[in-house]
Amino acid sequence: MLFSKLAEYYDSLEKVSSRLKMIEIMAEVFKEAEEREMSAIVYMTQGVLAPAFEGKEFGVAEKMATESIAIATGYTKDEVESDFKKSGDLGKTAESFVAKSKLKRMLSSKPNILEVYEAMKKISESSGKGSKEHKIKLLANLVASSTPLEARYMIRYPLGQLRLGLGDATMLEALSVMENNDRTLKDELERAYNICSDLGFVAATLKSDGLKAIRSLSVSTFKPIRPALAERLPTAEEIIEKMGGKCAVEQKYDGFRCQIHRKGKRIELYSRRLERTTEMFPDIATAALKEVSTDEFIIEGEALAYNEATSEFMPFQETIQRKRKHGIDEKAVNLPLRLMAFDIMFADGKNYMNEPYSKRREKLEELLGKSETLRPSKRIITDSAKDLDDFFNISVENGLEGIVAKDLNAPYIAGARKFSWIKLKRSYQGELSDTLDLVIIGYYLGRGSRTEFGFGGLLCAVYNEKRDMFESISKLGTGFTEEQMQELSDKLSKIAQKSKPARVDAILEPDFWVYPKYVVTVRADEITKSPTHTCGMKVNDDGTKSGYSLRFPRLVGETTIRTDKSPEEATTTKEIIELYSQQKKVRV
Ligand code: ATP
Repeated sequence: MLFSKLAEYYDSLEKVSSRLKMIEIMAEVFKEAEEREMSAIVYMTQGVLAPAFEGKEFGVAEKMATESIAIATGYTKDEVESDFKKSGDLGKTAESFVAKSKLKRMLSSKPNILEVYEAMKKISESSGKGSKEHKIKLLANLVASSTPLEARYMIRYPLGQLRLGLGDATMLEALSVMENNDRTLKDELERAYNICSDLGFVAATLKSDGLKAIRSLSVSTFKPIRPALAERLPTAEEIIEKMGGKCAVEQKYDGFRCQIHRKGKRIELYSRRLERTTEMFPDIATAALKEVSTDEFIIEGEALAYNEATSEFMPFQETIQRKRKHGIDEKAVNLPLRLMAFDIMFADGKNYMNEPYSKRREKLEELLGKSETLRPSKRIITDSAKDLDDFFNISVENGLEGIVAKDLNAPYIAGARKFSWIKLKRSYQGELSDTLDLVIIGYYLGRGSRTEFGFGGLLCAVYNEKRDMFESISKLGTGFTEEQMQELSDKLSKIAQKSKPARVDAILEPDFWVYPKYVVTVRADEITKSPTHTCGMKVNDDGTKSGYSLRFPRLVGETTIRTDKSPEEATTTKEIIELYSQQKKVRV
């Protein structure tokens, strides 16, 4: 497929706001694509070069792209920059400069998708001395041979700002329509995606080998599994009741989630967002090579700093210091980590995902028998709410976050929040018992003492999985330090836009909209019904409409932006509705 054709499809995607229409357009693209083009199309549409775990970055900053546009069209950098200041979208700026280019366009050969994808890969792979200039030149070459519309996406793609408003869930449905002319295959495709985290691979497999191949796809080392997530319940009694009898109750550790893959001498660690973190945690990687009694496995646990002198886990503020790119070895000595392992998905060529929890745990303990650094999480097995409560209290006294109860018979459910894991965390009086992770969808300019920051507060949303949309839930104006306001103002002004992004659903109008990208952690006193927010919005009996909102929301968290969560991993509308009903139960 010619890149110009894909650019036309992208243009029509930008113009529609109905999700069904988006699915239809994307299914057309997939139908038309050749087998060998499938994965490239998926990555391009996701705005990446490869799945997150491959860690491929473009390394193209806005300043560099500005220079490329100038070189390709014969204008000065200043001229391009001043247009960008007005348009707020370097893609659009590229489009208009190519349209009025002073240079002769090199339109002799129209590039196809694979040629563009390979050229973008080259840009990403250029590294070391002189690489900046080299990248600028390569990108300028691409822009120079583009039509105006192609140039829009040639520039947006390496900046990671395609602005198509298309999420993975929508793409999965489009693949289903491609294969079956309806959306019923989405669950099967999602299962495949959940165990390999590579949508490009799923798309290519479906096109080349069909549904049968998707159904027989199994876990494999070095393709990280999308993590299982926990539901919440407010009391020990409700947890025991929901579990329907005996369950495991594990300590909940507050560190970094870590998935370890090993085959022979190769070892890789993946974060909660499935990014490779192997080099960051050499102590864990070495232990996984030396202290486990088999050489092929996928295990999962929480890595956290441990004080060997006092045999105590350190708080998250300490552990987070291990998340760094420099001085890694020194920190590994001063602040050694332990991995509290809580699951195993693969060992010695056998897929353990469908084995019940109790079997998996047995295998985990067997493999970690001799290890000092990798320990199985501490747990009890009980059907008594009192025992669960006692274990919870001891865990909290020991500085841990709480507990996670686990269904003894459940398989490992990748990529989903299910009641086979139920968490109970430290509660805070007069506050919701858990923090919420909200997506920034807009911001307000500062007034009064905040004028100087150009930032007065945020408009935040939760993720509605069913609709694949971000629904507004709250304004957020409290809890920011001056540094945080500055940081948010810097980050958000770069992605500010005047019109509402496609996957955002909101009634309120902020001063600027932003494309859903950043997640913040928020604490609130209560969830309330609200006519102005679209989260879970329904028509009431009296004909009025109400959604959900937050009372006294404030920013909390160790960092301003939660870098370990993507917008689709934020708190969901479904969770808000559940938390609202739990809250009512506690009150009566
Ligand atoms: P939270 O902010 O509560 O960690 P989350 O959205 O990151 O929320 P949840 O599904 O709510 O994830 O909680 C599960 C998280 O708790 C896991 O991602 C994991 O990192 C951590 N965890 C710590 N100890 C355990 C354990 N024993 N079993 C499972 N998960 C654990």
